[in-house]
Amino acid sequence: MKLYNSLSHSKEDFVPHEPGRVSMYTCGPTVYHFAHIGNLRTYIMEDVLEKALRWEGYDVKRVMNITDVGHLVSDADTGEDKMLKGARRENKTVMDIARFYTNAFFEDCKKLNIKRPDVVEPATNMISEYIQVITKLIEAGHAYLAGGNVYFDTSTLKKYYVFNDHDEEDLAVGVREGVEEDQNKRNKNDFVLWFTKSKFEDQALKWDSPWGVGYPGWHIECSCISMKHLGEYLDLHCGGIDNAFPHHTNEIAQSEAYLGHEWCKYWFHVHHLNTTSGKMAKSKGEFLTVSLLEEKGYDPLIYRLFCLQSHYRNNLVFSWENLDNARAAYEKLIARVASLDGTAGGSIDGDTMAPYKTRFQEALDNDLNTSLAITALYDVLKAGEMNDATKLALIESFDMVLGLGLLDRAAALREKQATPAEGAEEIERLIAQRQAARKAKDFKTADAIRDQLKEMGVVIEDTAQGVKWSLQK
Ligand SMILES: [Zn+2]
Repeated sequence: MKLYNSLSHSKEDFVPHEPGRVSMYTCGPTVYHFAHIGNLRTYIMEDVLEKALRWEGYDVKRVMNITDVGHLVSDADTGEDKMLKGARRENKTVMDIARFYTNAFFEDCKKLNIKRPDVVEPATNMISEYIQVITKLIEAGHAYLAGGNVYFDTSTLKKYYVFNDHDEEDLAVGVREGVEEDQNKRNKNDFVLWFTKSKFEDQALKWDSPWGVGYPGWHIECSCISMKHLGEYLDLHCGGIDNAFPHHTNEIAQSEAYLGHEWCKYWFHVHHLNTTSGKMAKSKGEFLTVSLLEEKGYDPLIYRLFCLQSHYRNNLVFSWENLDNARAAYEKLIARVASLDGTAGGSIDGDTMAPYKTRFQEALDNDLNTSLAITALYDVLKAGEMNDATKLALIESFDMVLGLGLLDRAAALREKQATPAEGAEEIERLIAQRQAARKAKDFKTADAIRDQLKEMGVVIEDTAQGVKWSLQK
């Protein structure tokens, strides 16, 4: 598989540290509100990546954190505490808020066919690990105590801006955020590992530490949770592109300073979901959630298809009109799958399957080109030389990666469509089959079909004019 690596700015062959096994880390949600569908785009594409790796035979272990310890609205170590903000808004405790929105997040994921990661670790479970790592960073001279907080000293690194060649001045925290500089910092990009002094005296969750009662910075949780569950060598780290700086940059800084060697090999960043008026945000305009999509009558998997139709490294523009187009495509797709009859026209044929599987895999291997993978799915539906059983087998296989619920939704549609007219067609077909069997003196089959019809409530009568049938009253 070739994947674009944000570290090298190029597509690279994906070669895990241990052959056949992939350690995969995903930055999880901050659980102070519902996730908006822009956040969920990232989780959908990460899910496809995980499933593609599994489909290709890798043994994947995926870990995700849950940011349930308040991290600040701004990465400049200022701004409001998001968790506390949520708790105040809803008049609940911070832990109630965390529990409620963690569940809500995984409910949304379920509706979008996003598999739950193998390990989900709330940040508040890991306080002793943060303290241990921070202690070692101080001892090694990579961190210092100033004004009551522990800071990471970015001047001890050979290179700090790992993802971009941005001008330091451009990204300097004070300048970027337009906020006043923290006077305790030795360098403007230094960041807090442990707070005991915050502008927010009423921080709800605090723990004892060698540096006083306080709480961890945001970045340290991902480094520690990843190292605990996935070891010192991480293959793949995922997240939204807006996390590349400063969050992932700081994760790398502290992890590699702690470990003394390269930590994570591949960085997979999903780009933004924009609205027609700009980047999607909770604070702007309509708050787009999975529940809202459902209220408006959209199957959440329509949104999943919408995301898969474009490449994860392109910004995607959301509008109701665009979603309607995805709905039309989804409904057509399901109808076509529903029209396939796996019981007619022969059994699964591995030989005709092979080139289609190859085409699908090539799409995945080309930096997770999901729109090409969907084209490969359409190619299967169109394939003239392929019987329905083979098509259905391929669709089932592809959908292990795409996660569009194709067979489930098709079965539901067929059930809905089982109108009297179609029922009659089916009965006629069975009667014709029975006649053919009788003609061939295959009475066993003929009797079996008669029994099947009887079970369906169909009474048959052999008359001089042929077979007559009626439904049992
Ligand atoms: Zn993270």
